Amino acid sequence: MSLVDALFDQVDRALEPHPQARLCHVRVRIGELAGVEPELFRTAFEGLRQERRYPGAALELVWQEALWRCLLCQTTVDHGDFLQCPACGGAAQLCQGDGIYLDHLELEVPDV
Ligand SMILES: [Zn+2]
Repeated sequence: MSLVDALFDQVDRALEPHPQARLCHVRVRIGELAGVEPELFRTAFEGLRQERRYPGAALELVWQEALWRCLLCQTTVDHGDFLQCPACGGAAQLCQGDGIYLDHLELEVPDV
């Protein structure tokens, strides 16, 4: 729930320069290691959008797989947990897939 609140805070900031605009579409990327259940996220979004003054906002969720890169040989591995490089046994660093990102907003600006 607080994640969705934080998301709406981001939307608020993005829309600040456009007070007339109406939010119609939000695309959010959810990393597979973010620990977020997409269905719960959607339920929370739909529960909050009215009170956050975005009643017409549709939510699109994009699933993002984890991507790891070996620190030694740069081999990349996607999916799941990656603790050791399959090629050289080196340690790996997570490049993506552990967060929630506001990907895209679509606004509707009324005619003046
Ligand atoms: Zn390696």
